[in-house]
Amino acid sequence: LSEGLQSAFKSLRGKGKLTEGNMRDGLEIVRKSLLEADVSYPVVQDFMGHVTERALGKRVLLSLRPHEELVSIVHSELVSLLGPVDSSLHLRKEGPTIIMLCGLQGSGKTTTCGKLAQLLKEENIKATLVAADLQRPAAIEQLHVIGRQLDVPVYSEPQNKNPVEVCQNGVAKAKADGARVVILDTAGRLAIDEELMAELSRIDKKVAPDQVYLVVDGMTGQDAVNSADAFNKSLELDGVIMTKLDGDARGGALLSVKHVTGVPIKFMGTGEHMDALEPFRPEGMAGRILQMGDIVAAAREAHRIVDEKEREELEAKMAAGDFTLDDFKKMMEKVAKPGLMGKMMGLMPGMGQFKEALESEEAAGGIKQTIGAINSMTMAERRNPKIIDATRRTRIANGAGVQTPVVSQLIKQFEIMKPIMQGMAGGGVADRARMMQQ
Ligand code: GDP
Ligand code: MG
Repeated sequence: LSEGLQSAFKSLRGKGKLTEGNMRDGLEIVRKSLLEADVSYPVVQDFMGHVTERALGKRVLLSLRPHEELVSIVHSELVSLLGPVDSSLHLRKEGPTIIMLCGLQGSGKTTTCGKLAQLLKEENIKATLVAADLQRPAAIEQLHVIGRQLDVPVYSEPQNKNPVEVCQNGVAKAKADGARVVILDTAGRLAIDEELMAELSRIDKKVAPDQVYLVVDGMTGQDAVNSADAFNKSLELDGVIMTKLDGDARGGALLSVKHVTGVPIKFMGTGEHMDALEPFRPEGMAGRILQMGDIVAAAREAHRIVDEKEREELEAKMAAGDFTLDDFKKMMEKVAKPGLMGKMMGLMPGMGQFKEALESEEAAGGIKQTIGAINSMTMAERRNPKIIDATRRTRIANGAGVQTPVVSQLIKQFEIMKPIMQGMAGGGVADRARMMQQ
């Protein structure tokens, strides 16, 4: 067997497990990356503890370094923590659905009201906007400008100082007009205060919105977690909309906000225009927060090639000494797919130098010949190549269209390889036993 093939085979089994020791560096890299992404410190601590627990004892593919395996685990943990995907507005079948937006001043509530109205308009759903931010006189006019721009009705009562009444009247008007959705644009403050929370809480109780969404400025980073916590305590939030993700912010605040509120992240605002609202996608966001796309992609590719279950079955066979030429063939067929071998080698540390050689036609030809030779054997021969005598060897070679030495070499090397592989797999079992004792 060529050296390359042996290495390829070796990559089909794990080189060990993630331990406290071999994860230390990787965990540190991840921790730094999350903090740089503006995930709040307590959330990072919490997350790291959770990931360490999840990752401990997980197998590491030979083609990956422990920190790469770890990063791929971190990525999927991030995806699952940021999820689930739920960008539905949960519209009622009958009567108008009331959606209330709340958040700090400047977080993007008024803009997001318009964006949601635009989204509904595209679906031919009639919406009414209610100007319930009575703190700043300009706020009402701002909503009217958006309403005119989108050709969506805006309800306001410039003289009324009671936001609960304005909302109630707005809902009644929307109902009379046959609107299916009413969106309440509420007031915000520069910082959380009791009065604001009391006002929002009154609207929440008296107007009973179907959906209450917290609008969070994605650029506020660390502060986002405190405001989210305060809003979450005073209101029954149904979702979060994070705005201004069109900037350089890595969006770590989303993880913090999700962590404290536990409600789905519905949308992301990605610009000032009315169409700059996107349904939230955990995958993309996890990648943006972690910023280790290359490692995640490499790890995913390695895992794709080396199917976990298949590998375990193979290892069990190897450990029991049941590994046959047939299994060997299946394995080779896997790596013999065009380009796959080279890719695998590319993924393996230090193997890049063989990449070209392995992608050569000569290597591909060699693999084809080997597979061909195995194909010409009977099942009994594949299980136990020792029964193949000189005559059979020539017959097999003829059947496969290869030279007899190709068959002889294959059998010889398989016999040498088998106990080695059994030892390798045995090592895996020993690893497992050691892990259990720890
Ligand atoms: P409110 O005080 O919560 O109602 O916030 P506004 O809707 O008035 O928005 C405050 C500022 O943020 C405005 O200048 C908006 O144009 C801007 N803004 C809102 N959402 C986004 C967004 O997703 N991306 C960008 N770049 N700017 C946004
Ligand atoms: Mg506003």
